[in-house]
Amino acid sequence: MTLLDINLASTSTIEDPRLSEPFLLTPGPLTTSYEVKEAMLRDWGSWDKDFREMTQEMRVQLLAMIGSKADDFDCVPMQGSGTFSVEAMLGSFIPRNGKVLILANGAYGQRSVQTMAYLGRDHVVLDKGDYLPPRGEEVVKILKEDPAITHVVAIHCETSSGILNPIDEISQATYGAGRKLLIDSMSAFGAVPLEADKIQYEAVVSSANKCIEGVPGFGFIIARKCELQAAKGNSHSLSLDVHAQWEHMNKTGQWRFTPPTHVVVAFLEALRSHQLEGGVEGRGARYARNRDVMVSGMRDLGFETLLANRWLSPIIVTFFCPADPMFEFGKFYELMKDKGFIIYPGKLTVAESFRVGCIGQMDEHIMRRVVTAAEQTLADMGVKNANPPADALLERAKLDA
Ligand SMILES: *Cc1c(COP(=O)(O)O)cnc(C)c1O
Repeated sequence: MTLLDINLASTSTIEDPRLSEPFLLTPGPLTTSYEVKEAMLRDWGSWDKDFREMTQEMRVQLLAMIGSKADDFDCVPMQGSGTFSVEAMLGSFIPRNGKVLILANGAYGQRSVQTMAYLGRDHVVLDKGDYLPPRGEEVVKILKEDPAITHVVAIHCETSSGILNPIDEISQATYGAGRKLLIDSMSAFGAVPLEADKIQYEAVVSSANKCIEGVPGFGFIIARKCELQAAKGNSHSLSLDVHAQWEHMNKTGQWRFTPPTHVVVAFLEALRSHQLEGGVEGRGARYARNRDVMVSGMRDLGFETLLANRWLSPIIVTFFCPADPMFEFGKFYELMKDKGFIIYPGKLTVAESFRVGCIGQMDEHIMRRVVTAAEQTLADMGVKNANPPADALLERAKLDA
C-alpha cells in the first residue's frame, strides 16, 4: 500500500501521513503516534534533574487515573515488560506465609499461577478454562471454605480471549470475605475505569505499551501506601522489589537501576495525548467505537465472535476461524499484512480462532478499512462464507447458560 492509497481511502484524523508502516491490530506493542516515536530522538541522563522530574510527572499522572482516592496510593514504575511488573507485585505484596487464590480464564491467569509456583508461595486456582468468567459467587464459596487464603489475584481484561472479567463483582466477593485483591489490569488500565473509590483493591499493574499507547520497556504498579510500607522484606528478588524501588524513588527521584530513558520520555508524550483525548473515558470511548465498528463489519461478512456482546472488551476481540475448507489462518494473516494490517493469532484450545485488537493509534475509519481488507482477503482465498463451525457456536452457548 502506498501513502497515496492511504490518504485516498481514509478520512481518519488519527492517521499520520508520515508513517507508512502496517497497523498493529495487536494488544501491545501497538501502533503509536509519530510524536511518541519522535520523543525518543534525544538522550537523557538518568540522574539528571530533568529526567527525575519526568519520572515524577509520570507517576502523578498515572495515579490521577484511579480517581479521588489516589492520595491513599502511590505509583511505582518498574523496568521490564509487563510480566516483570506482575511478578514484582505478586512477590512484593503477598507475604511469604500468605496464600493466594488466582482466578484464571486464559494465558495471563495461567502466567500468574506459574509465577506463584516459581515464587514457591502457597496458591490455589479457580480455572475457568479458555474464556468463561470467574464469578463473584464462586469466589465467595472458595474463600469461605479456605480461611488460609489471604489474597485474590484477578485479571481485568484477559487478553488471550478478550473477555472483560467482572472485576467489581470479584472485588466485592474478596473484601466481603475480608481478603485483599491484586489486579492485573495490563491491557485495560487507561481505557477501562478502575477508580479506587468504586472498586476496592490493594494494587493494580499495567505497562507502557498498552492503553496509554507508549512503547515497550517498563510497567508500573499502583498500590496502597500502607501495602507499600508493609511490603518491606517480602520480595524474592532484588530487582523486582516494589518496596525498595518505591523507597529509593521517593528518596532520590531516581530509579534504582538504569531506567529505559527513551521509553519514559515517549510515555510522557503518550500521556499528553491520553489527557487531550479525555483521559480514561475518552480513550475508552474510542476503543469501544473501534470494537463496535469492527465487530459489526466482521459479522456482516459472516464471522462470529467467541464471546457474546456483554463480555466483549474494547481491547481485543476473538473471532472463530471460518469453517470453509478454503480458509487457512496463515494465509489470511499474510494477505491481511499485505493490505497493511497485522492481526493476531488465537489462543484457544476449544476452537480455531484469531484476534483483532482495538487499541493503539487507530479510529473507526481505520477499523472500516480492516473490515474491507478482510472481505477482500476472503475473496482472494476463495472463501465463500466466513461462518464458524456449528460446534464452535455450541461451545459459546455455554457462556450464557
Ligand atoms: C500484555 C499482558 C501482560 C504482560 O505481558 P508482557 O508480554 O510481559 O508485556 C500481562 N497480563 C495481561 C493481561 C496482558 O495483556
